[in-house]
Amino acid sequence: MTGVRYSSPTNSTLFTDCCSVAVCDDETCCPVCGSEVYPKDPRSRHREALRQQMGAGAYAEHRKRMDQLIREDRRQNALREAEERMKNPA
Ligand SMILES: [Zn+2]
Repeated sequence: MTGVRYSSPTNSTLFTDCCSVAVCDDETCCPVCGSEVYPKDPRSRHREALRQQMGAGAYAEHRKRMDQLIREDRRQNALREAEERMKNPA
């Protein structure tokens, strides 16, 4: 079993830890040595590569900020919808 990482901070291609070769989202094994790539799910792979690149602490901060932004966005949408309902009562 092998992990994945980005080749550089400006390149989001995933490379295997074992052989340092590019691995496609639909490939479940390293194209060179055949080692099983973990995580299997492409989203999880990118999350893992990002976490490694940023460092665990910085990544946790990043996730927290993203969650806050998403929550704030939902709140704004809910407010807008409530305002619309008040303007146009059914
Ligand atoms: Zn390999």
